[in-house]
Parts: sequence; structure tokens; C-alpha cells
Amino acid sequence: MGEPAAHLARRMQGIDASGIRKVFDLAAHLADPINLSIGQPDFDVPDACKDRAIEAIRAGRNRYTVTQGDAPLREAVAESLRQEFGTFDAPVLITSGVSGGLLLAFLATINPGDEVLIPDPYFVMYKHLVNLLGGVPVFVDTYPDFHLRADRLAAAVTERTRMLVLNSPANPTGVVYTEAELRAAIEVARRHNVLVVSDEIYNAFAYDGPAPSAWPLYDEVLLLRGFSKTYAMTGWRLGYAVGPEPIIQAMTTLQQYTFVCAPAPFQAAGVLAIETDVSAHIKEFRTRRNLIYEGLRGRFNVEKPGGAFYIFPEAPGGSGTDFVRRAIEAGVLVIPGNVFSERDTHFRIAYAADRTTIERGIQTLNRLAGG
Ligand code: PMP
Repeated sequence: MGEPAAHLARRMQGIDASGIRKVFDLAAHLADPINLSIGQPDFDVPDACKDRAIEAIRAGRNRYTVTQGDAPLREAVAESLRQEFGTFDAPVLITSGVSGGLLLAFLATINPGDEVLIPDPYFVMYKHLVNLLGGVPVFVDTYPDFHLRADRLAAAVTERTRMLVLNSPANPTGVVYTEAELRAAIEVARRHNVLVVSDEIYNAFAYDGPAPSAWPLYDEVLLLRGFSKTYAMTGWRLGYAVGPEPIIQAMTTLQQYTFVCAPAPFQAAGVLAIETDVSAHIKEFRTRRNLIYEGLRGRFNVEKPGGAFYIFPEAPGGSGTDFVRRAIEAGVLVIPGNVFSERDTHFRIAYAADRTTIERGIQTLNRLAGG
């Protein structure tokens, strides 16, 4: 007899959420924690977008939309990509966040046994989704500076390699890939006929010039972008996928039998969001990036992040888990690197917090690092 009451599928055995949970268990008793663990902006949805969503609800746009998403939003996405890339005429699928796009993309393209190249450190969803589908995540180490090295990618390719997942600007490192390194990585993919899934959810959060996109570099790119971070609407569940016609087709079919559509009123508001200027927020995040990097670099071995809102220092003493335990005991919530990596040598700080909180965090972390 197996477990009588659990009724869980075998695939659940491979999913372990204990890393993050431990952090929050440890933090539960803290009265006034310095919270540098949150992966979402601390600003709110632009007022005009809220109004648009409310109007849409009042106007009765509360029903299913077509599976691929409302035409005005798809056209607005296409137009924004046209402006960015000069030309754009690929199909657009509106998804329930980039998470929805990732699930559909992986469902549509990964067979059991297929290998998926994932630069390490990585956004943790990639690993779990690949495992759920019986694929094999193949981690390509990018330490110590978290940049892609084509030779390491090439060395990881086998005849089972089906996909390369890119994420720039990156969670958890904040690294922004240069166009040259993207080109070199994509050259490896092209040589081996590998699909590139480019998760560019943080594309607006780039502090030293625009983040180069993988999109124009290769025909076999599936580009995933979202509204969650750029417009601070993580709870609205809106994103999009553009890419090769057969893949978008397959993802649309799968959306029909899973998510059905992205939330209708928020699709209406998304048309306005995509035209909204968020540069003041980005400027503020750039200041915070400078603040945290300058504040830590004296005592920590740390790369200067170019984007997103994360920084990924090396843990003094060598163990991310041990250092994070000490940090939480001292009132600072951060996440151990092994949640995002096969290594446990670093820790993630999310600096989507006000400057006072960031400064308090810097002080405590520096004290723990022996300063
Ligand atoms: N990709 C990355 C790299 C992320 O950090 C996140 C959010 N933490 C997502 C995708 C998912 O975002 P959403 O589903 O809200 O669009």
C-alpha cells in the first residue's frame, strides 16, 4: 500500500518549495523586518490603467475573450514591437502572465527526455516546469559574473538538446546580456537547431542603456514579455508570447484547454498600459541599483547588476543558506542562492523597496559581513 490519503501524482515528488518557505518561516516572528525578498515593484498600477480596468468591468467586459486575446491588445503589442524593432509581423498570443506563457511554451515543445539548457542561476520556474514535463534541465554555470559563455553552452549541447532559455535582464542576478554574448549564444542554438525561449519580463528595467533583445537575432526565438513588472500589475496576470507561427498556434490550442484566456478587463487596460511612460519609476530603480551596489561592494564580492531589481552577492563564509539565516535573525529578509541555483554560495537581494529600507538593509548586511 502506498500513501493512502495523499492522492498525489508522482510528478509532485520532484517539486520542492522548501527553500523559499524556510525563509518565510524564519521571518514569521520578526516584528519589523527589512524586507528585501520581494520580486515585484513597490509602486502601484498607473491610475489611468486602474480607471480603464474599472470602466471595462462596468461596461460588461467580464466574459471570455477570444483565446488568443483581444484584437486591440494584440495590435498594441505588435505596434510596440514594431516601434522597438523596426519591423514586426509575427503572431501575438496574450497569456496569463509570463508564467502562463512559459507553461504553454514548454507544454507545446518539450518531449520527455528532451534537454533544456538553462543558464544557472535561473528563475526557478524554468527548472520545475521542465521537470514536470519529463524534460531534463541542463544547467549551464554562469558564475562568477553571470554572463553567458558560448563555449560553456556549446559544451552542454547533446543530440537531445531542444531548447535554450534566456532571461535578460535576469532574475536573480540582475545581469543584462550584451548583444555580442546574445549573438554568440544564439549561434550555438542555430548550429544545433535549438529553440530559444527568451523571457524578457524585465526588459523595461535596464539602467545602462536598453537591454538587447534576442528577438531580432534568430528566427527560432519565442519571446515572452509581461505587464506584471513594468506596470506593477503582478496580480492582473497579463503577458504575451510572440514567435514562430506553429509554436504560437500550438500554444493557442493549449490555452483553449487550460487558461482559456487572460483576464478580460485587464486586457482592456493593457492597451493603455503599454503606452504608459514608466521612465520615472525606472529612474528611481536606477538610483536604488546604485545605492545597493555602492553600499555593498566594499564588504561583499558582488557584480554590478544592469537591470531587473535584484543583486546577487556572494555570501561571506561561503554558504548562502547560513548567511541568509544570520541575515534573517538580524531582521533582513533575503533569499539564499540555492533557491535559484545548483550552487549555494550567494544570496538574492530584491531592491524594489524604498531607499530607507535599502539603507537599513545595507547597514545590517555590512555588519554581518564583518564591517
Ligand atoms: N519570469 C521571470 C524571470 C520572473 O521573475 C517572473 C516573476 N517573478 C516571471 C517570469 C513571471 O511573471 P508573471 O507571470 O507575473 O508575468
